Amino acid sequence: MIPLPLIIPENNPSLPQETFARVVRDPATGQRSLHANAFFDAGDILCSFAASALQEQPDYLTLQLNEHTHISLKPDVLQFTNHSCDPNVFFDTTAMQVIALRSIQPGDEISFFYPSTEWKMAQPFHCTCGAIRCLGWISGAADIPLAVLQQYQLTAFIRSQLSKQSLL
Ligand SMILES: [Zn+2]
Repeated sequence: MIPLPLIIPENNPSLPQETFARVVRDPATGQRSLHANAFFDAGDILCSFAASALQEQPDYLTLQLNEHTHISLKPDVLQFTNHSCDPNVFFDTTAMQVIALRSIQPGDEISFFYPSTEWKMAQPFHCTCGAIRCLGWISGAADIPLAVLQQYQLTAFIRSQLSKQSLL
């Protein structure tokens, strides 16, 4: 990782910021997104994360660790990581690290594949990520064909759910 000076977005300096990434608010839509502050190679660790809170049921901001554990993310900026069907990071819930899946340039939006951690999402949505392989409806790994999921890096929890399912 090559550290660059932290850039605070002029439009909203009160948004949470970290050295590895910054939160940007689109003034037109109000939508917020996370953007890299540095260059990362595939396999690099962008940051470690931890739970700032635990809950038994998911909501639209939580990350799933196992069947009954959903966490709020620390550092706070990670809650602004949007979904993409062609993600550039993976949330490894075993190592508790955010890992680059390919090279990321400073300024690139940081995105992850929500079903890589979420079995059944609290707020399914119609994806408009624009990726060639966009799946459209995103509601969690439980609703995605195995052949599609296998193209993605998945958490140990999601893999264990899939192996349970295939035994049925
Ligand atoms: Zn998509």
